[in-house]
Amino acid sequence: MKKEKGERPNSRIIEKTLNSLSPKSNATLTGYLVLLVLYIATTIIVTTTARATSEINIGSNSLSVNTFAGVFSALSNICIIFMVVYYGKRGFHTAIIALLIQIPMILIGVIRRNNLSSLPGLFTDIFTLIAVIALYVNNDKMDKYQEKLRDQATTDILTGLPNRFACSALISDLIKHGEKFTVVSIDVNNFKSINDTMGFNAGNKVLKEIASRWKEIADRGLSGTLDFITRVAGDEFALIIRNYDSVDKVRKTVMQYDTVLTKVMTIDDCDLYITASFGYASYPEDGNTIDILFKSSDAAMSEVKRQNSSNHIMRFSSDLIKVGRSLEIEQKLRKALEDDTVYFHLQPQFDLSHKLRGFEALARMKDSDGKNISPGEFIPIAEKVGLVDKVDGAVFRKSAQFFGQLLRKANSDITLSVNISVRHLMKNDFLDEVRDIIRKSGVPASQLEIEITESIMIDSAEKALECIKEIKHMGIKIAIDDFGTGYSSLSYLNNFPANLLKIDKSFIDKMNASDSSKQYVAAIISIGHIMNFDVISEGVEDQEQLETLRSIGCDFIQGYIWGRPMPPEEAEAVMLEYA
Ligand code: C2E
Ligand code: MG
Ligand code: MG
Repeated sequence: MKKEKGERPNSRIIEKTLNSLSPKSNATLTGYLVLLVLYIATTIIVTTTARATSEINIGSNSLSVNTFAGVFSALSNICIIFMVVYYGKRGFHTAIIALLIQIPMILIGVIRRNNLSSLPGLFTDIFTLIAVIALYVNNDKMDKYQEKLRDQATTDILTGLPNRFACSALISDLIKHGEKFTVVSIDVNNFKSINDTMGFNAGNKVLKEIASRWKEIADRGLSGTLDFITRVAGDEFALIIRNYDSVDKVRKTVMQYDTVLTKVMTIDDCDLYITASFGYASYPEDGNTIDILFKSSDAAMSEVKRQNSSNHIMRFSSDLIKVGRSLEIEQKLRKALEDDTVYFHLQPQFDLSHKLRGFEALARMKDSDGKNISPGEFIPIAEKVGLVDKVDGAVFRKSAQFFGQLLRKANSDITLSVNISVRHLMKNDFLDEVRDIIRKSGVPASQLEIEITESIMIDSAEKALECIKEIKHMGIKIAIDDFGTGYSSLSYLNNFPANLLKIDKSFIDKMNASDSSKQYVAAIISIGHIMNFDVISEGVEDQEQLETLRSIGCDFIQGYIWGRPMPPEEAEAVMLEYA
């Protein structure tokens, strides 16, 4: 592995980062040399013209050549001052040497030739010397102050490690130069409990000890890779690994950081065994921007935490994005249920003469930034993590409450349909929940409908069927949702106590593309009618679909053509107009 001896990567990189923040970093060596040459040239010109006696004629005036000496003298002094301003110590030393050579030379000239005409030049140089010293002293003070500020901006005060800013600066630099590297997100496990049980001071000591163990590996190059360890926040650290030839080497380096941590740590006479979770992502394979790389390494680290296994290290893989998004939605959903902010929209259903049949209540949930999260995304997650009954329940309760008020305002026989997952349906207290909602909302059972998805329904046990029969017995209608997406056999369907078949949108979408697709929908409608079900088509969007459905005898439609899902206030207006 390429590695310079005695190199201290952390300090070298911090230095580089600090320097990149300084305006002086823009001053190049070429500029310095140009100033030096200009200074020497103007000094030579001043010396030779000062001795010249010839004259230059401009119009009727004749000027002595040494009149121009003042101009060149000013120019040479400006060079000196620029050197001090832009080249710090080096510029200052050059200026002092130049002036200390020049001043005695002029003095000797004045004494030797007994010619006082060079005296003004001598005074100019002495004043320049004073100005240069004052400038340097002042600059030095400013530099120290600036350095302190820069140090504070890039260093974490508690541990002395570089901070998030320095870490991002290095990553940007590496990306700019196309150098491969790996970002490791590290989170100390159970750090909060150390803080809670041992106090804040002990927590700080733990962080300092962790930092010093890791700094030792990074600074002494013990891992064999070029490492840069930073503290990004609280108990979160980030490690940047460079100069490796295989992914295996990266893992070995991370393992070394893991191993030094597991050695007992004695803090305030207590023996602590600290562990951390490590997730890493490599540039360019796992991401090509700072943001993506950190998100990826964080996702891997969160997965390590979630799995809570003895293996503390994981590399990012694209599967984690899905896991990460699901976890994020699960958390948002839990919060929304806790705060009771899951709400509903109502989508109208009509018969073919545009008379309102009723509304379907659809669950809605907002992100913390106000954006909607689609039920297509959060309902499957709710089903997976066992929260769907709570979502169904909230939508059922809230929409029934609203619907009850609506019915009390305007006497109407329209229906409220709610989606209930089979998991929810099979819960022992489901029927009690339904009775409770009916009692509190005042909606008659005959004006309620429960939608059960066909594909889920046919996989379910006898118990679900028993429950559905019970619901039907209470006078509530049953709809088979998304019909056509499952594989219910005709005999199964014949025994199913439904009132309504909802033809899935996918069939309506392609219905007018070919005659056979249209015949297929027509056949579903006929079968539904033979079994005594009403039939509704979902997702009707255009006039052509509407006309086809009318011609093949569909009973109801639901779709954007006559009404999108809408907030309850708008639904009230629709009811007054179309019921
Ligand atoms: P679904 O029960 O089949 O509801 C119909 C879906 O089709 C709704 O999507 C509705 O907005 C959409 N839709 C209706 N007409 C049109 C149309 O003309 N064009 C298009 N492109 N789409 C149309 P949404 O609201 O996104 O709901 C998606 C699914 O989430 C629902 O499908 C249902 O399966 C589930 N869901 C919604 N709310 C609940 C709930 O409270 N509980 C349960 N268990 N599932 C729910
Ligand atoms: Mg539905
Ligand atoms: Mg549907």
